[in-house]
Amino acid sequence: MHVAAVYGAVVLSPWRDLHTYTLALCVASWQLASFGITLGYHRLWSHKAYTARLPLRTALAFMGSLGFQGSIKWWVVRHRLHHRFTDDPVHDPYSAQLGLFWSHCGWIYYKRAYPRMKMIDKGDLESDPVVRFQHRHYIPIALTAGLLLPAVAARQWGDALGGFVWGGLVARLLIWHCTFMINSLAHYIGDQPYSEENSSRGTLFIALCTSGEGNHNFHHAFPHDYRNGPARGDWDPSAWVLHLLHALTNQIPYLHRITDTDYLKAKAGMLSLEASRLHERIPKENVARSESELPVWGAGEVRERARASGEHAGQGGKQLLLLIDGFIVDATPYADSHPGGRGILTEWSISATGKRIKDSTRAFDGLVNKHSKGAKETMRVYRVARYEE
Ligand SMILES: [Zn+2]
Ligand SMILES: [Zn+2]
Repeated sequence: MHVAAVYGAVVLSPWRDLHTYTLALCVASWQLASFGITLGYHRLWSHKAYTARLPLRTALAFMGSLGFQGSIKWWVVRHRLHHRFTDDPVHDPYSAQLGLFWSHCGWIYYKRAYPRMKMIDKGDLESDPVVRFQHRHYIPIALTAGLLLPAVAARQWGDALGGFVWGGLVARLLIWHCTFMINSLAHYIGDQPYSEENSSRGTLFIALCTSGEGNHNFHHAFPHDYRNGPARGDWDPSAWVLHLLHALTNQIPYLHRITDTDYLKAKAGMLSLEASRLHERIPKENVARSESELPVWGAGEVRERARASGEHAGQGGKQLLLLIDGFIVDATPYADSHPGGRGILTEWSISATGKRIKDSTRAFDGLVNKHSKGAKETMRVYRVARYEE
């Protein structure tokens, strides 16, 4: 197929002289196959994300045959194995653990026996007359729809050979590699906003190539959902088509989507995991100690410390201790980095001899400067004690 397509596109029907209609036919033949695979093979028959009446199922079975990816029955049972045993090198037919080429198309060349295939339920497929018919007559349907019909269609504008090459061979390669990318690249590159329990990831690029199947991380987390891209801004035309057919026709009586709660839980779970990883990267000495870790100082002790000189003292032999929010903050090591300057810290610091312990809380919280959240966090790092009068 690859050799024939390249030979056709270079010699038989050169791309430079391509008829506009033939190019449109190529795109249409590719896109019909793409929607046939995503809406039919994948979301309907593999995952039962919705129910469809006979006319729609017939149309999707025909469109999916244009994908040249085997019958619905052949495709679906392998895909169910992929979801049941994702990444398992033995039981996942296109396990990403076996490398990019294997998961892309290498697996097709090996007729492996799958020891757990008997665990896969085929009852729903066998009871669907559309699936049975397509399986029985798959090769003539696929060859007629995928190679012969484009040539017949392009005869209308006198380009039967171009129709065969571009609407047939080239369009078949496009749909192949776009679908294969979901098994290969969508398990290698992209984000994991919903789960990291397997290698599935999401990328806009793959979504653009596959009528919306690129958000593969969500799909693996919630395979029963009719959408692959649930977030605002996700590219998922397959979900939009399903939504419209459900709203405007009687062809889709039931459409399944997860609850908002499940969606929020998955997303929040990954965000808090990410947050804890970021926290782990912060050096321990830059993390504010908790209240219980700090000693308690009374006025006497605070004055004693404020009087300290020698190696613990700041410039001019003065220790810059401040009382903020009921905590003693030792600003001595920070004084030279303080954006407001050392002078203001000195002015508000606790005197060793004063009658009362000077409280700088109001000054810190807006009287002298309304400190930012970041500045407040920095201040907390320098807390050395709780203050009790
Ligand atoms: Zn996958
Ligand atoms: Zn799937």
